[in-house]
Amino acid sequence: MRLKPQEEKIAEKIFSGDRLTFDEGMFLYQQASFNFLSVMANYVKEKISGNDVYFNINIHIEPTNYCVYNCKFCSYARKIGQEGGWEYSLEEIERIASHYKDTPITEVHITGGVHPRRDVYYYAEMIRRIREILPDVYIKAFTAIELHFMFRKARVSVEEGLQILKEAGLQALPGGGAEILDDDLSRQLHDKPGYQTWIEIHRTAHQLGIQSNATMLYGHIEKYQHRLIHMERIRSLQDETGGFNAFIPLKFRNKNNPMSDVPEVTVIEDMRNYAVSRLFLDNVPHLKAYWVNIGKKNAQLSLAFGVDDLDGTIDDTTRIYSMAGADEDHPRMTVSEMTELIRSAGRRPVQRDTLYKVVKIYD
Ligand code: SF4
Repeated sequence: MRLKPQEEKIAEKIFSGDRLTFDEGMFLYQQASFNFLSVMANYVKEKISGNDVYFNINIHIEPTNYCVYNCKFCSYARKIGQEGGWEYSLEEIERIASHYKDTPITEVHITGGVHPRRDVYYYAEMIRRIREILPDVYIKAFTAIELHFMFRKARVSVEEGLQILKEAGLQALPGGGAEILDDDLSRQLHDKPGYQTWIEIHRTAHQLGIQSNATMLYGHIEKYQHRLIHMERIRSLQDETGGFNAFIPLKFRNKNNPMSDVPEVTVIEDMRNYAVSRLFLDNVPHLKAYWVNIGKKNAQLSLAFGVDDLDGTIDDTTRIYSMAGADEDHPRMTVSEMTELIRSAGRRPVQRDTLYKVVKIYD
C-alpha cells in the first residue's frame, strides 16, 4: 500500500501512541484511503482487545415514548394522547423483568422518552423494583437528557439525583442524548439542553463511580468538523475522569421524522467513521457498533474498522430504530447467532458484563 506523506506521518504517530490533532482528524475523514483507515483502526483495536469482540446478554426496557422534546431526527417520540404512544406502569415493568428471572441476562438497559410527569423518585422506584426481581443483573439506565429533566422536576441537583438513583440500584449510564456536542448545530436539530448539560451529568456520574458510554449521532446535517469537536469534548472529559467505557457512533436514520428529506450516508461512510473514531479517541477503551442501528451485516463489517463490541442480544423490546427505518423490525439475536456473526468475521466472541468484565470466552 503506497501511503500519502500525511498518512505516513499519522501512521508513525499511531504506532508511537501519540494523540492525533483536530487537523489530522480532518485529513482522515476527507483524504485518507479506505485501506489506510481499516489497517490503522485494526492496529489500534488489536492493541486494545487482540482478536476478541465483546457482546453482552441484555434486554432493553423502554418505559415510555412520551416526550417533552421535539428532536427533528426522532421517529419515536409521541405527545401524551397521540397515536403510537405508550407508557408502561411500574407493574408492567415488573412483569417484563420477571420474564427474565433465571435467564442468563447480565444487563437491563433502560431508556425512553422524557415523560412530562415523571421525576427522579418515580424512576428510583422503578429501579428498586427491577433490582428486587433481578438482584444480580446490572442496571444501566437513562440518558443525560432524561436525567436532567427528572432531576429538575424533583428540584434536586445532578449529584443528589444521581445519588438517589445509585442508592436504588443504578450502576451505569448509557451514552445517548449526546447527538453532536455543539450548541450551534444542536439548535438546528433539537430543543434539548445544550451540550454542557450532557457533559456535566456524565462528569458527575464518573465522579460518583458510575461509569458510562458516549454516543454520536452522525450522517445528517453535521460536517466533519462537528464530529471532531464532539469527539474532542469526549476525549478531554475522558482525560479528566476515565469514566467512559465505550464510544458508540449512531447513524442517522431518515424514516418517519421531520428530517426525512436528508439522505442517509453510505455504508462506506459508516466504516470510515468507525475507523476515524477509533483513531481519534485514543483514551476510550471500546468502540461499539450498535447492530440494531446499522444492521447485522454492517455491524459484522465494522469489525474490520476498529470496532470491538457489538452490544448485546437485546431481545425484541426496543423500538427506537425500527421506527426510524432500520432493517431490524424486532431486534433480537440469540447467543449462537451473535457468536456466529463474530466468528465468521475471523474474531473470537467474548461475552462481557456492563463494565467489560469477561463472563465467558467462546473459543
Ligand atoms: S430523541 Fe429522545 S429526547 Fe428527542 S424527541 Fe426523541 S425521545 Fe425525546
